[in-house]
Amino acid sequence: MDHTDLYINGTWHKTDERFDVINPATEQVLASVASAGIADADAALDAAQAAMAGWAARTPRQRSEVLRKAWELMTARLDHFARLITLENGKAGADARGEATYAAEFFRWFAEEAVRADGMITHAPASGARIMVQHKPAGLAVLITPWNYPAAMGTRKIAPALAAGCGVIIKPASETPLTMLALMPLLEEAGVPAGLVNVLPSKKTGALVDHMLHDPRVRVVSFTGSTGVGRKLLKSAADQVLKPAMELGGNAPVIVFDDADMDVAIEGTMLAKMRNLGEACTAANRIYVHEAVAPEFTRRLTAAMSALVVGDGTDASVDVGPLVNAATRDKVAEFVADALAKGAKLECGGVVPEGRGFFYPPTVLSNVPETAHCVHDEIFGPVAAIQTFTEQGDVIARANATEYGLVAYVFSGDFKRALQVCERLDYGMVGLNRGLVSDPAAPFGGTKQSGLGREGGHEGMLEFMETQYISASW
Ligand code: NAP
Repeated sequence: MDHTDLYINGTWHKTDERFDVINPATEQVLASVASAGIADADAALDAAQAAMAGWAARTPRQRSEVLRKAWELMTARLDHFARLITLENGKAGADARGEATYAAEFFRWFAEEAVRADGMITHAPASGARIMVQHKPAGLAVLITPWNYPAAMGTRKIAPALAAGCGVIIKPASETPLTMLALMPLLEEAGVPAGLVNVLPSKKTGALVDHMLHDPRVRVVSFTGSTGVGRKLLKSAADQVLKPAMELGGNAPVIVFDDADMDVAIEGTMLAKMRNLGEACTAANRIYVHEAVAPEFTRRLTAAMSALVVGDGTDASVDVGPLVNAATRDKVAEFVADALAKGAKLECGGVVPEGRGFFYPPTVLSNVPETAHCVHDEIFGPVAAIQTFTEQGDVIARANATEYGLVAYVFSGDFKRALQVCERLDYGMVGLNRGLVSDPAAPFGGTKQSGLGREGGHEGMLEFMETQYISASW
């Protein structure tokens, strides 16, 4: 691996303490990575603060052109990034290439948004003074990302922060720090000034992040990860009243009505379930199928899941790579054992293969009881859990009966009914006859305990900006 050290102020820093990154397909050590401490965090904050002054003073067009260049360079090197993603995360080649493409797109989208931080001017209705509104860079941002999308969850934060004029310190997940480190030379080549973006892998995550969130120069904390860690960060962020952007866990329901086009429903459910082998906050977690079409849906979904090839993601014929680590694989196996013990029926999969690698086979469960843990918690693996319904009101109530509210999926051929159902679902995003909602041009985010704020779309850059209102008369 080319880059395994801390990236601070545009240079690589070694540390005495290091930690291993494991290839989940082989269980072998891929690299030994530097682990940042408090002094490194201070150096990164100093560098980001110094670089931000000049960066924020550049014109929006100049910032835009650097981001556009980053998109061009990343797009030209998709295979390189895809391979690295597969090696450290395990996901299959097609998933990794999809992620690298998606990750690069954030640079293009925010290159286009950098020049659109529109304000407004109007007359105050009572006084006749002018109300002028403008957006300014919020300040230094601490970005914390998960292992399931080592590139895209980073670029989804870095690109809007840079478009807004902010400097950043990014703390990648310990399982997958290599992709983010490998991105840094590319950003340098694109013209990002030294110090503006710093990367601090660390095994002392809690203390390191807490220290940075208490530095008075930091104004934004943007986190993607579990709801439990998100809650802790919100508490830390409260001390300095930081601007929080929280992309947290999900428990996505899929609702398949009896009037759905069955080809569309199967294709969409497969995508919602198996993109990233189920290790996605947007992954279909509960699949509610109308009783009239449940036998056909179950048969066809089982056939599609059984046809997927499991193996090392570096092999081009593989559809499903290993899960990221043993704990994740074991949790998936426990979910399946729990559902079966409570009366679910195993349609396919369900057996952990022998040998090296954290593999789990694509699995379909039908007749999953409401009491099963997988109905209430994120499965985060390749397990499709099917339940049935007959009444529209009942399935909406069941879909909404969770503390999460990230994304839901609806399949129906009756658009009037489908849109009525979408509006009654308490979710930040809904896929209607589609199993994929992620799009850099759309506001990604959840309601309830799935998070706060939005990434992508027009909203994404505003998360890194403060609104200033000037009351003026002339
Ligand atoms: P996680 O355990 O919450 O970790 C995410 C990041 O937080 C990692 O960088 C981790 O560092 C760091 N972290 C852990 N404890 C921390 C602490 N006390 N203070 C500060 N940072 C801390 O989540 P994960 O297991 O990596 O990711 C899976 C979760 O992410 C799922 O719940 C999934 O739904 C969610 N997710 C949400 C979205 C979304 O957009 N809504 C997208 C993707 C994933 P270490 O690796 O060093 O522990």
